[in-house]
Amino acid sequence: MTSRPATFDLSKHGITVAEVHHNLSPSKLYEHAIRFEKDASIAENGALVAYSGAKTGRSPNDKRVVEHPDSKNDIWWGKVNIPCDAHTFQINRQRALDYLNTRERLYCFDGFAGWDPATRIKVRVICSRPYHALFMHTMLIRPSKEELASFGEPDFVIINGGAFPANRLTTGMGSTTSIDLSFEDKELVILGTEYAGEMKKGVFTVANYFGPKRGILSMHCSATADKTSGVSSLLFGLSGTGKTTLSADPKRHLIGDDEHCWSDDGIFNIEGGCYAKAINLTSESEPDIFQALRFGAVLENVVLNEDHGVDYTDTSITLNTRGAYPIEFIGNAKIPCVAGHPTDVIFLTCDAFGVLPPVSALSPAHAMYHFISGYTAKVAGTEMGVTEPQTTFSPCFGGPFLVWHPSKYAELLAEKMKKHNARVWLVNTGWSGGGPGVGKRMSLKYTRAIIDAIHDGSLAKAKTVKDPVFGFDVIAECPNVPSEILIPRNAWADKASYDATAKKLAGLFNKNFETYAAGASAEVKAAAPAK
Ligand code: ATP
Ligand code: MN
Repeated sequence: MTSRPATFDLSKHGITVAEVHHNLSPSKLYEHAIRFEKDASIAENGALVAYSGAKTGRSPNDKRVVEHPDSKNDIWWGKVNIPCDAHTFQINRQRALDYLNTRERLYCFDGFAGWDPATRIKVRVICSRPYHALFMHTMLIRPSKEELASFGEPDFVIINGGAFPANRLTTGMGSTTSIDLSFEDKELVILGTEYAGEMKKGVFTVANYFGPKRGILSMHCSATADKTSGVSSLLFGLSGTGKTTLSADPKRHLIGDDEHCWSDDGIFNIEGGCYAKAINLTSESEPDIFQALRFGAVLENVVLNEDHGVDYTDTSITLNTRGAYPIEFIGNAKIPCVAGHPTDVIFLTCDAFGVLPPVSALSPAHAMYHFISGYTAKVAGTEMGVTEPQTTFSPCFGGPFLVWHPSKYAELLAEKMKKHNARVWLVNTGWSGGGPGVGKRMSLKYTRAIIDAIHDGSLAKAKTVKDPVFGFDVIAECPNVPSEILIPRNAWADKASYDATAKKLAGLFNKNFETYAAGASAEVKAAAPAK
């Protein structure tokens, strides 16, 4: 195999390895993966298949942020941002560097986060696995040859020593996994997990700090744009609610599937790729994503048959099988990934109680209430240890990635939605007619029809009915969706059971909101479900 002399100098980051491969092309990373990864292979569809080892999902309880006088007062400290002292950060950093320095060869990828040239973040990834280098090549915005030549110093560096554990005896370590962020050193250090999604969401966390500092709202949402007018629409939602699936929509331009910013000029994607769930993927139900998993894509933790065809139904390694591909692999992606201000803001929730309506229109107060609540059921997969639906409230539909207090993002969203007259919708992509076992998951076909009707303006004119418990306006008619399912109580055989379950969910909302009530306006508090 042809391997250019690797001479990229990383000594200023504490790296002593001479053989550093800088921004290798996908085909070269494939060659390195086949040669040096212990279990990489090439699937029949052309994607590089790699395995992330023991961790097949994110480790949200092991993320730490350095407590430093410069940023201390900006940060929402607690379970999401666990404080870590500068010395502990240095110990973990040194441990990651020591590990990387034992390697024969390393990989470095320099790319951008953010499609707005004025505010983009120059990210450098230093890692030991070709799989991780290809993953970040796919997920970050790939620099042109000229941009790479003039890249200069990075704004942020990811030091991925994930194949090596954190030392349990180091102060504050709760396990052998630690993901440590220092805004002052401008570094993210990873130990004890090889799940590639940690790097992607690490970059998002960085964007979630610097965005609001500049008055730019960073958001955990997918985005599409109208092909003729260029106006956009956002789909917020926690993991598994349908951001990626529903944004792959041939009728619209894809702007991005997971992380965006909203500035005074409109919206832009933070990433250069998409990261789709691969479980039960079929070419019939998700054709755009299915065809994007080809040469240049990374398929993680999937099982291959003997001809190296991918068995998307096989979840023996994890329920969280994933495929990462450059955004241009989706035919209707818009490059550069920027679009006009959103006309519609859609909150996706995967309600495992089967209580929330398929689609409701939210007033500004209801919008804030639901944005701060961030309700969904965590479906099995993306986080370690989640194997059946769990009720979750995650502020801003992205709690694990927030850096500032949720109110910072909520205020920015309220201000921007008001300024640009965006309509707000709550869409339940979860259960209907009852919870798991009784009802069933909303059909993707109906959810797509609802999204279409939002975009073509028909739902803005549709008949609505006020929900007696939640108080928002439930859409009672929608083209291509049976009216029986639009009012959830009608979809339940057992009405008494519906009423009891709705009351239970309302109680959970009210309980969760107690934490935020003090900071909320009277209007937002009045948008709470009936007590
Ligand atoms: P993450 O933040 O982890 O990337 P996501 O919001 O992008 O999560 P998707 O990858 O789109 O979530 O996952 C949604 C999953 O739910 C897909 O596997 C999709 O096939 C399935 N699904 C089933 N029914 C629906 C529905 N009605 N709407 C959306 N998705 C559905
Ligand atoms: Mn997604």
